Amino acid sequence: MALANGHTLLSTELQLPLRIGKKLAEGGQGEIYQVSAAGRSYALKWYHPAQATAEQKGAIAALVKHGPPKGKAGSRFLWPIDLVEESKSGAFGYVMPLLDSSRFATLGQVQAHRKAAPGYGSMCRISFQAASSYKQLHMAGYCYRDISRNNLLFDPHSGDIVICDNDNVGISNQSACQVLGTMENMPPELILNRAVPSTQSDLHALSVLLFELWIWHHPLHGLKEYQVRSWDLPAKIRIYGEEPLFVFDPENDSNRLPEDPEYQTARRRWQQCPPSVQELFLKAFTVGLQQPQQRVTEGQWQRTFLRLQDSMLSCPACRAENFSPPAGNTPADCWHCRSRLVLPPRLLVKHARGSHAFTLLLGKSLSTLFCHPEEEEKARLFGEVNQHPNNAQIWGIRNLTEQSWSIRLPDGSRKEVPPQRSAPLTIGLELDFIGLNGQIVS
Ligand SMILES: [Zn+2]
Repeated sequence: MALANGHTLLSTELQLPLRIGKKLAEGGQGEIYQVSAAGRSYALKWYHPAQATAEQKGAIAALVKHGPPKGKAGSRFLWPIDLVEESKSGAFGYVMPLLDSSRFATLGQVQAHRKAAPGYGSMCRISFQAASSYKQLHMAGYCYRDISRNNLLFDPHSGDIVICDNDNVGISNQSACQVLGTMENMPPELILNRAVPSTQSDLHALSVLLFELWIWHHPLHGLKEYQVRSWDLPAKIRIYGEEPLFVFDPENDSNRLPEDPEYQTARRRWQQCPPSVQELFLKAFTVGLQQPQQRVTEGQWQRTFLRLQDSMLSCPACRAENFSPPAGNTPADCWHCRSRLVLPPRLLVKHARGSHAFTLLLGKSLSTLFCHPEEEEKARLFGEVNQHPNNAQIWGIRNLTEQSWSIRLPDGSRKEVPPQRSAPLTIGLELDFIGLNGQIVS
């Protein structure tokens, strides 16, 4: 039953007087309205009578009580704030933060050219944040159950994300749920009714979502789907459940991309995809398809995308963002203008889990996120690549921390770099900062 504009409803726990505004969207489960209370705007999801079950109400109440997953990663979920009920009719819904739809886009809107396409740097941030937020949800004991391109939205410029439709979130490995997931994103064991939604099924759905973001294609849509005459339920069960085969499977090419211009974009985007990401997709859609324990974890995605983002190149001719070549390789040509790329100096930082490289591009901010990708709120900007105020040819790394850095120049001499001052950007320079050791390499 539709809600009347201007009508006021009281939320159950917080007693927020919610004034109903315009209808924003309508879906299979219910309608979304913009509502306001005490001068602030929210969104209200109001269930269709058939979906307004006692189980659903109990599930929402539990999510409200628990609150969103922790930290910065948890704050990206448009989590239910409170239940809203209409006692007379028994209808109900829940109030949640309002999505800024002028800022955030779905992949579908980007593909339809209705929103700007994110650059490679933003793509890395979107992918990192998606993995990070779902990880935080899983650590809270929940599974999302319906990870798909439809409920992840992103700011194409900054790469920030939000995750909507959180009312299907449930406890991992418990089956009671109205939604089992979007079929395209479900792993074979769910399609074939051999398992219930869990973190493992979410990991498969996350890999599908990331593949669609990067390749603009479904990982299992190759010759097999191309030859299907009627795209009905049995066909979907076969493609996603009974005979799932990755379109880029290195051992079996019977589901390769068809030689049809329609598939040109996917082919080109796969060729431009960094090898480290290709490798994870290969794992996710070969061994990970049938063996849930072998799936790519959120942490593996996080580390890979963070490494790519911090080592991004800028084309000297057209400024387009490019990926660094794998270690030991010379840079290829710019994907955009075909100019030869030049590898800038890098800051190589050693830490407990290995090493991390930052390409030293002018204006670039350097963050400690690589030290603890699972706790984003702990990350601090520690440096910024800048130019000498009197000589633009001289570059340095400005100390953005509150402690002095100790540096060792290539001639062996040592110096202190106080906060806000810059260390010279010299090949061979060693840097001790906030408990870490870095070296500038060519
Ligand atoms: Zn270029």
